[in-house]
Amino acid sequence: MNVKNIKSFIEFYQSMGVSTFIGKSQRFSNTQFNSVIQKKVNHPFINKKSSQDKVNKLNILKNSIEQSDCGLKDIATNIVFSDGQHNSKIMLIGEAPGAEEDKTGKPFVGQAGKLLDKMLNFIGLERKKNFYITNIVFWRPPGNRTPNEQEIKICLPFVKKHIQIIKPQLIILLGNIAAKSILQTTEGITKIRGKNFFYIDEENNLKIEAIPIFHPAYLLRNPIEKKYVWEDLKKIYKVIKEKKI
Ligand code: URA
Repeated sequence: MNVKNIKSFIEFYQSMGVSTFIGKSQRFSNTQFNSVIQKKVNHPFINKKSSQDKVNKLNILKNSIEQSDCGLKDIATNIVFSDGQHNSKIMLIGEAPGAEEDKTGKPFVGQAGKLLDKMLNFIGLERKKNFYITNIVFWRPPGNRTPNEQEIKICLPFVKKHIQIIKPQLIILLGNIAAKSILQTTEGITKIRGKNFFYIDEENNLKIEAIPIFHPAYLLRNPIEKKYVWEDLKKIYKVIKEKKI
């Protein structure tokens, strides 16, 4: 067994606030993760024209979301559209903005976002460099309640358009609401995490690998579930490596 790997494994969990762990698992070091992903994800050639086309399409999409009749927009401070690299092949989708996101207009900038960044950094993913992130619902539901069916129904076509514009090769779904809405499954995240899925949009000829994981806010409320994070990160890393993205 590689001592460096065990060390990284323990360091990872310590950084996640976990101090005790008993179990068996295949280990990777974050040096291994980072070197592969930095080589493959930071693709050297990005076509300037298609990048600008994407920016234009994203601006149009944002405008049409602003015109939509989702009731949440009347009580929110800001629309929370997206953050990260629009040219990335990895797209993360969360549930709905919270208080910090509502204030800043950026997704995942509060406590849950900080935990998420820490997790992803461990496999070489950084929003400034190599992933793109958004939510199912674009405004904060009052009191951070779960978005209701009507709100999701209004926002979902925009999320689908969002996926169509970004054209990722891997979608990471954060928590129940994102997984259920995108995968059209009724099964909860506890049942489906650890399994591989595809997001299918027949109309636009899209079939994209999708990995559901626990929402970081859920992990903050239920630290015992952090024991699955390592496995989930390995799964994401494996797909990134296989797809050379
Ligand atoms: N939780 C989410 O699902 N999205 C955010 O942007 C912030 C917290």
